Amino acid sequence: MKKILAMIITVFMVFSLFAECSFAKSFSDINEDSQPFLFESVDYLSENEILSGYDDGTFKADRNITRAEASKILANSLGYEEDYEGEDLPFTDVPKNQWYYNYIAYAYEKEIINGMSPKEFWPQDNVTYEQFVKMVVCAIGEEYEALSKGGANWYTGYLEVADEKGLLEGVTVRVKEKATRGDCAKILYNAFKNDYLAIFKYTSFEEPLEEEIEEFVKEVGEYEFERIVIDAGHNYSGIDTGAENPDLEAFEQEITWEIADKLREILEDNGYEVIMTREEMEDNIEGEDVMEVLKNRAGIANENEADLFISIHINAGGGTGIETYVFRDKTYAYAISEFVQTALADHTGMTDRGVKTNDYVVLTETAMPAFLVEAGFIDREEDCEYIMSVDGQYEIAWGIAQGLEDYRNSFTGGY
Ligand SMILES: [Zn+2]
Repeated sequence: MKKILAMIITVFMVFSLFAECSFAKSFSDINEDSQPFLFESVDYLSENEILSGYDDGTFKADRNITRAEASKILANSLGYEEDYEGEDLPFTDVPKNQWYYNYIAYAYEKEIINGMSPKEFWPQDNVTYEQFVKMVVCAIGEEYEALSKGGANWYTGYLEVADEKGLLEGVTVRVKEKATRGDCAKILYNAFKNDYLAIFKYTSFEEPLEEEIEEFVKEVGEYEFERIVIDAGHNYSGIDTGAENPDLEAFEQEITWEIADKLREILEDNGYEVIMTREEMEDNIEGEDVMEVLKNRAGIANENEADLFISIHINAGGGTGIETYVFRDKTYAYAISEFVQTALADHTGMTDRGVKTNDYVVLTETAMPAFLVEAGFIDREEDCEYIMSVDGQYEIAWGIAQGLEDYRNSFTGGY
């Protein structure tokens, strides 16, 4: 994944989580055989809920697109969340009660759109080809590159960069003409296809593991899992509470639960059966002492005959980044963890501290493959702010979930 992605990654997935389903949608007016690239583009973007068709099942690829609509699909591409609340916009023609206000605010904040004048946005105006290209070039973080090219017109540099980056593949750019929905879809899809934008989905473009590890994974063969116990590290109160960062009012046991809860949602969505050690944030696992509490956590997985145990913790003690622990290397747990750790580093952009071994009680006492994620350092301000944010928590949860899918896909050739 390109470096720039780390900067523009946010949580598009929140939206998809609550959607009924995320299967590919086909549209009655797009023919896969006669318009394969349009089909591929629209299919990808609609599957990932970046754009949608009309209620009658059509897409209407030849229609034009307003600046408000363009703002929406660009915002969705960059991780817009439903609960987003932006700064006040300076545009008198973008009223707060309009459906597009937040999308425009989001895209404006990300500096991928501008007004037509300091006080006007012209939301209902149609987007021209060069305007849309500019938006996408800005969205992939290449505005500076475009500006530095100069050229005869304001858009010359944007078109040049777009061409160099392959964004215009399959599109005939007609400068100053209104762009069609179909062409906008293709331009945006090219940005995803060429890895300049990323989506938190299993269809994203993952980096392969190191060869040596891949060989090992193949050697031991696939471990199948269906019932997963998620262990939100530490108790809410009493004994075995977690680390703290008093300056930021951060408590490990709250953050681990938030991540665990998001992971639960995602894994259930993916068809796994999930059991939580701490069902609610305020829950405590009983025990006379810390050792017993930890054994009881493993006990929940053992009693339920879980296939996999995932414990979530936050690090402390000076350092930064994310790491995954297993009891022994060259085990199923190790194989799975390598995928999880890779996906975690990829999704979060945090320092990759690798997979390590340790004899943590939850790892030694569990009767099934188990791994423990230390997701950032609570006593490192940068890490702590990240893991306290909803975006960060989702990215960590998605990293874990993605790692599990990557592991499975490595056996089916889908990886
Ligand atoms: Zn901990």
